[in-house]
Amino acid sequence: MTEKKLIGVDLGGTTIKFAILTNKGEIQQKWSIETNILSDGQLIIPDIIDSINHHIKMYDMNIDQFDGIGLGSPGTIDHERGTIKGAFNLNWTDEVYPVRDIQKGTGLPVVIENDANVAALGERWQGAGNNADDVVFVTLGTGVGGGIIANGKLIQGQNGAAGEIGHVTVDPNGFMCTCGKRGCLETIASATGIVRVARDRASEYAGSSELKAMLDDGQDISAKDVFDLAKKDDDLALIVADYVCDSLGFVLGNIANTLNPKYIVIGGGVSAAGEFLLNKVDKAMRANEFATIKDSTELRLASLGNGAGVIGAASLIKVD
Ligand SMILES: [Zn+2]
Repeated sequence: MTEKKLIGVDLGGTTIKFAILTNKGEIQQKWSIETNILSDGQLIIPDIIDSINHHIKMYDMNIDQFDGIGLGSPGTIDHERGTIKGAFNLNWTDEVYPVRDIQKGTGLPVVIENDANVAALGERWQGAGNNADDVVFVTLGTGVGGGIIANGKLIQGQNGAAGEIGHVTVDPNGFMCTCGKRGCLETIASATGIVRVARDRASEYAGSSELKAMLDDGQDISAKDVFDLAKKDDDLALIVADYVCDSLGFVLGNIANTLNPKYIVIGGGVSAAGEFLLNKVDKAMRANEFATIKDSTELRLASLGNGAGVIGAASLIKVD
């Protein structure tokens, strides 16, 4: 019998990415469609079904060639019931039933998982995680997300909310977070958090700095500007980058102390700051680690970019 293929779907707020993979994780085909969040996001699931059916038909394939469909989505996943709640960036105010509906619409089995968790699974399987049994993934984007694989299994937690590394408290008196708490890692190390830290530090800074001048001039700055200037030894940008990396290293060091993973992988847009960011975070992480952890847990940059989602989603349906 020839090995069956996998379909991975990465549902995001602006695009839905699809890929057909072999059982070994090799992408054979990929495509994407726009996410239509109008009408309370009611068209999203039908659009996914139509796009998969259309693609299978267009390439003269049939559903017997596939093991099934894995879907990564924002929101809180109820694994038992196959539902998603609280995906507000998709305009989904009510609970939705992708497992039931996509299975009915395509005739293929469907497994769903949170988007940060599928990115973690993707990086673990085909990226920087090197298929290790113990991998922690943290993604620094608009927010900060995370996924934890321990003993070869994704940790889902009692309510599907495990791995919310972005909401680990760094400073109980810090900035207000969207989750209602104060001082979450996300308020400091996300793309928006970095800009917030920069504005905050700039208001107390009296030295000479290009970043300070840009902010005083009313220019819009990004997390990338902060790291680019820090790399050029801009004094204020370095103060901000050090605080961001120290905070991230503090959290990751303590996660390492708790889980002793083989790899901790940093992904997301902010990780484009590369080795500069990695070295600073690594130093802070090590300062917070227990001795035996230092020798066995390695910090790495993600290697799959935004392709991690479809690969991780497809791995959900993989039959070993
Ligand atoms: Zn929070």
